Amino acid sequence: MINKRILIITTGGTIAMKMNSDIGIVPNDEFIDRLKEFPQMRNLAHIEIYEFANIPSPHMDPAKMMELAKVVEQKIIEFDGIVITHGTDTLEETAYMLDLILVTPKPVVFTAAMRSNSELGLDGPRNIVGAVRVAADDKSCNNGVLVVMNDEIDAARDVVKTDSGKTDSFVTPSYGILGNVDPDKVVFYRNTILKEKIPTVKIEENVDLIKCTSGMDGRFIKASIKYKAKAIVLEAFGRGNVTLKMIPAIKEAVEKGIIVVIVSRTYTGRVLAEYGYEGGGKELQSFGVIMGGDLKGLKMRIKLMVLLGKYNDPKIVREYLKNN
Ligand code: ASP
Repeated sequence: MINKRILIITTGGTIAMKMNSDIGIVPNDEFIDRLKEFPQMRNLAHIEIYEFANIPSPHMDPAKMMELAKVVEQKIIEFDGIVITHGTDTLEETAYMLDLILVTPKPVVFTAAMRSNSELGLDGPRNIVGAVRVAADDKSCNNGVLVVMNDEIDAARDVVKTDSGKTDSFVTPSYGILGNVDPDKVVFYRNTILKEKIPTVKIEENVDLIKCTSGMDGRFIKASIKYKAKAIVLEAFGRGNVTLKMIPAIKEAVEKGIIVVIVSRTYTGRVLAEYGYEGGGKELQSFGVIMGGDLKGLKMRIKLMVLLGKYNDPKIVREYLKNN
């Protein structure tokens, strides 16, 4: 029996795109009509559709993500769950921002497609059906924002787009999937225990992410200082170490009150203040750099935007981040 009410919020992305032979793959406006007529969805839930946007996700930005969070907060009151269709390019960031901001126990499930509607073996319809099934399943409650792609369920906090073209691109390299969308039922193997919630109606957009590379100097950090960044995330080497040539700029940023957070550029794993040599994590921490735990750079940047938006006080944010 169908008893759940699910809202699908569309934002655009390849899932809503088609090939135009003159210009390439672009958004078109047939997606919502196709969704309405999609036969596989009829027996899953009472479905309504709300168009938030129809943009490629490289055009999604933190201000729009915040706006989307507000729409979800408002709409979820009337529904049992929400599915959000999104481009894959920035899905990780939008899904994580909503994961931090939303406090609802109801399922909020992101999905997308790697292939446009003109391609053979398109993945969008199957992913949407999977996402609706997860959103309509009681087991999905209290698990934070979820991402459903390729019959797998991942936590927004940890999921990564790992491949630029394959349909199994979305993976949780650190901790693995939460569950599967199987033909007979939705199966959860584990729950998310890190339920971090930072409800806010404001974000701070001026947060930069800089990846460390061998021999790098401080020019990008200086640019962040010049553009008055409120925080800088440094994707450092291994456990959280940087080059010698970056140190003066990092010190300058810290002295100017900019929050500098170290995460690792490695695929998985935490940073740790353990190396005491110049540019090692322990030395960086001794002059005020913060160790960012296991979050990867893209996600830490979003978290800082949310934290700074909520507290608008670097001291409180620094204190908050001590728990990483
Ligand atoms: N470039 C597309 C986007 O993010 C990719 C996709 O949706 O898969 O909008």
